Amino acid sequence: MAPNFKNLIGDGWVAPATGQYLENRNPADTGDLIGRFPDSGPGDVDRAVRAAERAFERWRRVPAPARGDLLRRLGDLLQTNKESLADGMTREMGKVLAETRGDVQEGIDTAYYAASECRRLFGHTVPSELRQKWAMSWRRPIGVCGLITPFNFPLAIPTWKMFPALACGNTVVLKPSEDVPHTAHRLVELALEAGFPPGVINLVHGRGELAGKALVEHPEVRVLSFTGSTSTGALIGEVAGRMHKRLSLEMGGKNALIVMDDADLDLALDGVVWGAFGTTGQRCTATSRLLLHRKIHDRFLSRLADRAGRLRLGDGRKPGVEVGPLIHEEAREKVERYVEIGSKDGAELVTGGRRPRRSALSHGWFFEPTIFAGVKPRSRLEQEEVFGPVLSVVRIGSLEEAIRVNNDVRYGLSSSLYSRDVQAAFRAFEELDTGITYINAPTIGAEAHLPFGGVKQTGNGHREGGWQVYEFYSETKVGYADYSGRLQRAQIDNYGGNS
Ligand code: NAD
Repeated sequence: MAPNFKNLIGDGWVAPATGQYLENRNPADTGDLIGRFPDSGPGDVDRAVRAAERAFERWRRVPAPARGDLLRRLGDLLQTNKESLADGMTREMGKVLAETRGDVQEGIDTAYYAASECRRLFGHTVPSELRQKWAMSWRRPIGVCGLITPFNFPLAIPTWKMFPALACGNTVVLKPSEDVPHTAHRLVELALEAGFPPGVINLVHGRGELAGKALVEHPEVRVLSFTGSTSTGALIGEVAGRMHKRLSLEMGGKNALIVMDDADLDLALDGVVWGAFGTTGQRCTATSRLLLHRKIHDRFLSRLADRAGRLRLGDGRKPGVEVGPLIHEEAREKVERYVEIGSKDGAELVTGGRRPRRSALSHGWFFEPTIFAGVKPRSRLEQEEVFGPVLSVVRIGSLEEAIRVNNDVRYGLSSSLYSRDVQAAFRAFEELDTGITYINAPTIGAEAHLPFGGVKQTGNGHREGGWQVYEFYSETKVGYADYSGRLQRAQIDNYGGNS
């Protein structure tokens, strides 16, 4: 029988006060029940936040390099358990093993980066404008951080938030996606094994509208970091604004890949197939628009349709499978709605557009890789995030037009240009209005040691990953030490007031 899992609060695993549980099933085979996870309520969240608050008083005083030692140990444990974590992740989330291994690797990279950052966390020492006076700044922890994560990167995204928060001396309450609770459970188990003290990391499972909402609204949660859809981010942003909380939002995307007529078309083809149909299109950075130069449009499209039509769907744990299922039934229904919308708007369905017929796939949330051509700029299919294996192809006549079409959406996460022209490449870097631009590589492929995030309605100005996220999880404090033995007045005595 599938087990009932618990929340981690303070020093132990506890059943939810609500007494309610949510089922976690394999999206490739819905008969496979992984377990039941707490459907927690505000009372559970409150207990977790109180535990994190108590732990903060001790954890903030642990020297940062010692905090880094624990993060390094956790990185080692993730490495040792990489294969079983990836296997479990494919079972609950659906993406193929090569991708879930990559997801775990991103967590490992993030752990080692955070461990090393614990020996930097630089402040500044700058000259004072007055004599015999020192001026400096340093970083301080803030308090309890509420971390809310989506389903598509079940391990990597929690680590992007948790590790820098911990490195800076904060304590955390993680509310992972209710669709992938098991990977979060494993991560937290390994954190305990690494030796993190009780209460520093707390895990509360449950639905967004109940447990997530309670975490966002809890007055003692000083920092919120959210990754998910733009509509949920808007709800969280309202509360954070009203309650004066520090908030990082990482939200949706509608990423375009541009193929110019001088591009290496074989390379571009590999890039589009990976960018559009990797993770079954369920990546914030997925290639969901393909802007094809008219001179290569027809030949590229027919090769692409052929490749997409031959992708092997199935259980991501089986050898040879290239595309897994969608996360759940509602996700598949949403994709089907967009197929209808595209057809009604006059786009041409080139391949896919339906559930696969094979009976071996009838127990999962599979959908055929789908390509629409002749998609009109500003149509709904071209503008809205589908979050599934649906690629919209737009014909363009020049780089200027491609840039205009790319920028004319409300999102701004990732973009890509395939061209051999170095001038076009640098124009793309400058003019594509996204947080990330790739040249001769698809829209996906971020590395853990660089800042990650988007502009416009993809984010709210913060970045995850790299060096920048440490600013988000710490507060700058400034200190002045005057050893002159007399009153020195800034802006006055040094500019003639005492001469
Ligand atoms: P979602 O918004 O449905 O859920 C994300 C998380 O928010 C879940 O843990 C959910 O339980 C919680 N939540 C839902 N309602 C809430 C509420 N009212 N208050 C507090 N928490 C709430 O998103 P999803 O379907 O899990 O993920 C897909 C979305 O995430 C896509 O839009 C995708 O683009 C985005 N995403 C963005 C990035 C990025 O870095 N920009 C990365 C991955 C995914």
